Amino acid sequence: ITRQRYWGTPLPIWKCDKCRDYVVIGSTTELKKLAGKVPKDLHRPYIDEIEIKCKCGNKKKRIPDILDVWIDAGTTSWSCLDYPQKKDLFKKLWPPDFILEGKDQIRGWFNLLLVASMVSMNKHSYKACYMHGFVQDAEGRKMSKSLGNIISPYEVIDKFGADTLRYYMIGGANAGLDINYNMEDTKIKHKNLTVLWNIHKYLIDLVKNSSIDLRKLKIDKKKASIEEKYIISKLNSTIKKATELFEKYK
Ligand SMILES: [Zn+2]
Repeated sequence: ITRQRYWGTPLPIWKCDKCRDYVVIGSTTELKKLAGKVPKDLHRPYIDEIEIKCKCGNKKKRIPDILDVWIDAGTTSWSCLDYPQKKDLFKKLWPPDFILEGKDQIRGWFNLLLVASMVSMNKHSYKACYMHGFVQDAEGRKMSKSLGNIISPYEVIDKFGADTLRYYMIGGANAGLDINYNMEDTKIKHKNLTVLWNIHKYLIDLVKNSSIDLRKLKIDKKKASIEEKYIISKLNSTIKKATELFEKYK
């Protein structure tokens, strides 16, 4: 769990070379109590100047290693909420509803977040896990400089707009599976979306040019025509379906 490096989170263990006794420091308060002082910056080289008196009469020195970066990454679920120093955000937000990462994180973040919280609290650090695949070229090859097949998302956004790219990705990307990006399909998605955009703009213009105040608009269900009832029914079914799919991460 440690690395012989300079930059990183110092391993908080002080050890005596003479009697081999050691102490694991859990907070700056504890360090101050045992060492009498705490450096302003808790990183190297300042932290290495701190020594702790040993019961054998010798001095304990910090084991000079730093923690593996996966310890930093694995503890993020609570360290970003200032836990355990503060409890309010942790109580309110932890564990998060879900974590979203690429399939390269099976042995990485998905794993280490879980390991860290199970070891320290015996609890899961997320309720659900959504894993996405990678974006490959239209023929299913990895995008790379040497193949010259890289398509930047900015290029797609400049041509078709961000909504087209979102629409394409939502439709084409299944959880955990790679997507073979195809510019021709994006063009078709853009055309489909333009129809919806135009209807949307048309309706907004109609409302703007009328005396209708949408915020005050109430439909009397008893007086509503069959077409209006159909539209309201469709709207509610769509909300229900979209909510269900969202909750299943589909
Ligand atoms: Zn000692």
